[in-house]
Amino acid sequence: MPAPAESRPLGLLGGTFDPVHFGHLRLAEEAREALDLAQVLWIPAGRPPHRTLPRAAAADRLEMVRLAIAGNPHFALDDAESRAGTPSYTVPTLERLRALHGGRPLVLVLGSDAFLGLPAWHRWRELFGLAHIAVATRSGFELAAEEMGADLAEEFAPRLGSDPADLKNAAAGRIVPFAMTPLAISASLIRARIAAGLSTRYLLPDPVREYIEPHHLYRASDGR
Ligand code: ATP
Repeated sequence: MPAPAESRPLGLLGGTFDPVHFGHLRLAEEAREALDLAQVLWIPAGRPPHRTLPRAAAADRLEMVRLAIAGNPHFALDDAESRAGTPSYTVPTLERLRALHGGRPLVLVLGSDAFLGLPAWHRWRELFGLAHIAVATRSGFELAAEEMGADLAEEFAPRLGSDPADLKNAAAGRIVPFAMTPLAISASLIRARIAAGLSTRYLLPDPVREYIEPHHLYRASDGR
């Protein structure tokens, strides 16, 4: 019998989602399954600090995520970063969620490319005190200590766990890789296809495509 929902870990999936696509959806779905997460909370960034400005407005990206996850009872939306209007940093978001959820295990779900970029994040070492990290192997990116900078490799080795059950025994601090179906879909690829007038069908959910079209998002002529 599964454990009561409240005691199972809560997954957290942050991103720019510019736009959300099937790579993100499979990432969340496969993480939930592999790690026995009660739910995955989607957290669209308002203004990501460590990358170029998103093409679509925060409100549009939020709406696209809402459409993409509709109907999945295991997915929920957290719109706090999106509505904040200030740069979105993960550590303050985790502090807010930790205060809300007490000692419940929180699991930050990342693609391996995002994981390898962690040392560029604001106050990144504090992440490990606030949440576990689950890392999916993304097509074209392998998770190997040799690929990490020394700082990340130092955190990685002692925290590495192979058993998803480890995530239930502590509130934070473990790093658990999990394999996901490789899907070489990226938001950049989708934006480039739209700008070039090419089809994006089967790369992202139809309701999201149907939102993009009348809102004229990502067209070469949108001036952004
Ligand atoms: P962009 O192409 O604009 O950089 P992206 O498609 O990588 O965007 P993000 O919103 O930056 O999307 O990513 C959010 C999270 O989803 C990150 O942890 C990233 O590693 C992960 N992710 C994105 N695409 C995939 C994919 N195809 N498979 C697995 N993980 C993915």
